[in-house]
Amino acid sequence: MADMTPKILRGRLLSFSTAPKGPDDTDAYSYIEDGALLLRGGKIAACGEFADVAATADEGTAIIDHRPHLILPGFIDTHIHFPQAQVIASWADQLLDWLNDYTFPAEMKFADKAHGERIAKAFYDALVAHGTTTASAYCSSHPASVDAYFEEAERRGMLMLGGKTMMDRNAPADLCDTAQSAYDDSKALLKKWNGRGRAHYVVTPRFAITSTPGQLEAAGTLLREYPDCHLQTHINENHNEIAYTLELYPEAADYLGVYEGFGLLGRKTLLGHCIHMNDRELGVMRETGSVAVFCPTSNLFLGSGLFNKAGLEQAGVRTAIATDVGGGTNYSMLRTLDEGYKVLQLQRQRLHPLACFHWITLGNAEALSLQDRIGTLEPGTDADLVVLDARATQTMALRMETAESLSEELFVLQTLGDDRAVVETYAAGKALKS
Ligand SMILES: [Zn+2]
Repeated sequence: MADMTPKILRGRLLSFSTAPKGPDDTDAYSYIEDGALLLRGGKIAACGEFADVAATADEGTAIIDHRPHLILPGFIDTHIHFPQAQVIASWADQLLDWLNDYTFPAEMKFADKAHGERIAKAFYDALVAHGTTTASAYCSSHPASVDAYFEEAERRGMLMLGGKTMMDRNAPADLCDTAQSAYDDSKALLKKWNGRGRAHYVVTPRFAITSTPGQLEAAGTLLREYPDCHLQTHINENHNEIAYTLELYPEAADYLGVYEGFGLLGRKTLLGHCIHMNDRELGVMRETGSVAVFCPTSNLFLGSGLFNKAGLEQAGVRTAIATDVGGGTNYSMLRTLDEGYKVLQLQRQRLHPLACFHWITLGNAEALSLQDRIGTLEPGTDADLVVLDARATQTMALRMETAESLSEELFVLQTLGDDRAVVETYAAGKALKS
């Protein structure tokens, strides 16, 4: 539920209008030292200097003073697994073993709606604690898990994307649907949830290994019937995964060719990982506008490989960044930036902190085609916000004594920060953390 009571948040405002090319690219962002947001009806009604915003508000409007903290658009996580909240931190070899040994058994428990409801509460508590206001999640293959997921989002007034995982082979029988039941169940869930409140339904075939050609065909049919829906799946994460996929789909030119053949690509398609891409795949990604989603903590944890951000972007591919919990090891988009920074450092790609904070706010909003609603502090957009304290721990406070610029402060936050640096998280104008 949105908080309808108007209020003013006072603090240091930071938001982006495009991806900063470097520290001197001041056109790319707006920073207001003594800034304020007027929130009304779950939306941002005004944004600017505190004195100006206070003058436009009705007399007696409550002022919440977040000084000296930073106020940014809430963080956006473009790839996460809701039923893996108890899989995170499981000791495994690589992707396929990890799925069989930990993930599939955990996801089976979501046949029970009560289990899904309990995990949903904990899952959203974790998102909010870490400053994440929007995420795109894989639910389990059970429709009840999708209901549990969206019902809890609705209770908190959060803009969430998600869908039932479609999987009809190479997994335990209790997790497998069929091409037809996956189509029917997804369609029913889509009709129930897509556009209800702030919910967005995502057609969600897990990946080519666990879907028959008939099921990927069904996913393509759903996308043609509901072109405003997103699609999410995984691709080119691990060499064994790629080899097995090409055995299962011998006619495909390559891994992306499988999804391409069933009409699954487009500007609302989110492809997790995209680590081992060939030139043809890069070209098709560009032509279709599909999004490559970087999941650094997961890629390191499962030993999958290094995401080549510069290579993808030079090829004209859109990119996003995400936690991929539970293959990923932290809900925090700050921890995710820290690991992502190191993955890029290993490839001599150096990401500036301003570009990092653009990526987890407006950048990810654009990747989701939701930049008109979230990811900015523009008046008229939804009041989804995070308040950050770069002195949250002793280590951070000590380092901040020598920080002289906004960029340095952001780099401290992403390198040392986690949920302790998140003072407050607002969804639709409502404070959810404290
Ligand atoms: Zn994933």
